[in-house]
Amino acid sequence: MTGTSEPDPAGAPAGGRAFAIGLRNRFRGVTVREGMLVRGPAGWGEFSPFAEYGPREASRWWAACHEAAHLGWPEPLRDRVPVNVTVPAVDPERAARIVADGGCATAKVKVAERGQDWRADVARVEAVRAAIGPSGRVRVDANGAWDVDTAVRMTRELDRFGLEYVEQPCATLDELAAVRRRVDVPVAADESVRRAEDPLRVRASGAADIVVLKVQPLGGVRAALRVAEACGLPVVVSSAVETSVGLAAGVALAAALPELPYACGLATMQMLTADVTAEPLLPEGGFLPVRPAVVDEGALRSVEVDPGSWRARAEQARAAGAEPPGPR
Ligand SMILES: [Mg+2]
Repeated sequence: MTGTSEPDPAGAPAGGRAFAIGLRNRFRGVTVREGMLVRGPAGWGEFSPFAEYGPREASRWWAACHEAAHLGWPEPLRDRVPVNVTVPAVDPERAARIVADGGCATAKVKVAERGQDWRADVARVEAVRAAIGPSGRVRVDANGAWDVDTAVRMTRELDRFGLEYVEQPCATLDELAAVRRRVDVPVAADESVRRAEDPLRVRASGAADIVVLKVQPLGGVRAALRVAEACGLPVVVSSAVETSVGLAAGVALAAALPELPYACGLATMQMLTADVTAEPLLPEGGFLPVRPAVVDEGALRSVEVDPGSWRARAEQARAAGAEPPGPR
């Protein structure tokens, strides 16, 4: 038995415990990842919407937390899920080392970093291909930074090293669709998918071959499964840079998808300086195990902060949650 707190039968925000954990590198402009954990009859749930999200948007994050604490998740179809190692916009030598240390068969390489020359992207992807070997998979992520012509040119240039797909090469759906018509490499939509209805729009606009889905923004594992089915495109399950409690929900989604053709972007535990469990969800041999995350009382205490503002935020999110979390 870990922890001394009693399960909260209502799974209510009132029983939530807030955390603040340092990030190794700045993410979305912040250096601390904050959120709240709730314990219910089915286990622990994480509620960690980004600071700028209002109650309506946060209501889906609350629904995901509530699902984890109260319902648990659908039966897994697999007992482990493949994950990718992420290579930031670093020099080629460091990129090769990250791939070698990561031990994953798939690498995601950040490209189009502001202030860097395009040749830095070429050198980095070349080094990653050499490090991961001919059978490894290499995807690139531009985070929407290219215009259409640059995206087309760079995708062709980087595909010399064999690309699995190019993620969010441009910012808008129209641009993604234009790129997709002009390159042979599959296009994945990430930033274009923020709400449950977005994947349907991605599909309808012909903007992508693959969608990146995250559990919390979509309102839970079941909601994300419905989105995946309605959208009909292959899914890459990714995290919102959560503790192991939030990551476990992403793993549960990946484990429950009928097909899982791509490695998941769930190996993000390393981005945090601490966790709330004694056994953080870290990859081994390129896979994450499918298991619930059990909060360790000592680990949680060492990152715990006053829950007042988070409980209030969760209460507002719950009240705003009349809108269904996904397409029916
Ligand atoms: Mg991305």
